[in-house]
Parts: sequence; structure tokens; C-alpha cells
Amino acid sequence: MSTTTRGICCALAALAVLSATGGPHAAADDRVILAIGAHAGDAEITTGALLARHKRLGDRVAVLHLTLGEGGNPKTSPAAYGEQKKREALVAAKVLGAEVLFGPWKDGELRDTDEAARWVADAIRQVKPTHVVTHWKASLHPDHEAAFRVVSAAVLLASLSGFESAHPRHRGLRGVYYADNWEDADGFTPYLYVDVTEDLATWKAAVTSYEFIRGGISSFPYLEYYEALARVRGALAGKRFAVALEVDPFAKKRVLDALP
Ligand SMILES: [Zn+2]
Repeated sequence: MSTTTRGICCALAALAVLSATGGPHAAADDRVILAIGAHAGDAEITTGALLARHKRLGDRVAVLHLTLGEGGNPKTSPAAYGEQKKREALVAAKVLGAEVLFGPWKDGELRDTDEAARWVADAIRQVKPTHVVTHWKASLHPDHEAAFRVVSAAVLLASLSGFESAHPRHRGLRGVYYADNWEDADGFTPYLYVDVTEDLATWKAAVTSYEFIRGGISSFPYLEYYEALARVRGALAGKRFAVALEVDPFAKKRVLDALP
């Protein structure tokens, strides 16, 4: 992806996020939330409660898994674990009431390429999101950082009439938001807090479809960490449980006629 293309993309994303955070677009009946994760499970564990909340509010919600994350189980082959992860992802999506899409990449092989951006752009055109939630720009995992860059480029491509794909261009995106992921913590500062107190049970039912979240594969206590995180974010927001999101720094700029 060229630097020039990426710069234009960021500028457009900034306008979109400003519109989302300060504009009049808040009607509950026309939101479409698309969560894009590098590995099956990333989107649901970080953003599933938010998706459950918006589904309950009457919005469309969708999840795009760029890879299955099939390399994460030392006890079984990537092929077998990939089949398991796909089954688990389908169950999680059903519990959340989310549409689900799967990218063509293998675990550990997601790269910031024009081809990847074009594929994700067409997926965005297919889903027609008003809001995209994805990985923050800095991560311990190269797939997560690649996902950030690919999604940033794809957001622009999806809106351009000059980019031809299987679906028509989509210009309805209002904002790009970044998920609160323990692997993507470098420089992540919570900016928006959304109350998910009434949605935590649905989130838990969805994410525990994954064996790695129930425990027994990874030594990281996913379920305990993210439930505790939702409580911590909730405490800081004056709620019981909350999901926190970051936005691009330039999206925080506000221009007023006078102090509020
Ligand atoms: Zn991941």
C-alpha cells in the first residue's frame, strides 16, 4: 500500500469519525456495525458485548474474521483447529445475532498488501457498515497490525467509484473505532465508553463457544481478563460494565464557535 494512498485514507477516516462523534447520525434504525478481527475470536472477545447491545437496539451487526487463527493450538493440527475455530465462530455469531464473513488468509500470514485491501474493501461494500471496529495500530501480533493497515486502506477503497469490485461503492461509513485488546495496548487510550451492562451475559454466551476462551489451550485467562476489563471500563464510565474504544488522534479534534 502506498504512503500516499494511506494518507488519503486517514484523512477520510478522520472526517468520518468526526461525523460519527459529533454529527446528527444517531438514529438507532440505520446503524450497521462491522467488527473486523485478525483471528476468529478477536472481534467477539473485545467487541462482542457492543455488537450484542446494538443488535438489541435493532441494528445490523456483522463480524469479519480475516484468518481463523488456526495456528494457536499446539495440541492439534492447524487444519483441524481451523475447522473447529470456524464452527466456534459460527456459533458465536449466531448467539450475537451477527452476520459472519471469513477472509482467505492463513494464521500468521496476513500482510498489508493491495490485494488484501481490495478484498476487505469489497467485504465492506458487501456489508455496508456505518461503523467499523478493528484492531488498534500497535500490537504484539503482526497479524493485528496488518489488519489495522489493511482495514484503513480498505475503508478508502470501498468508497471510491474508481475501484471496481463485485459490489457497488459504499459511502455510508461514519467512523472507524479501535477495540480494547490486551495484545494491542501500546498507545491505546480509551476515548469512547459504551454501556454494555445488559449485554454481558450474551457476550459471555457467545465467546465461550471458543475453546481457547473457555480455557485449556492458551495460558492467557481470556474470559476473566475481558470480564474484569469490562468491569474496570464500566467503573470509569459510571456503569456496571462498559466497552471502551479508541479513535484516531485527528478524530478527537473539535471545532466550536465558543466554549461549551
Ligand atoms: Zn488475534
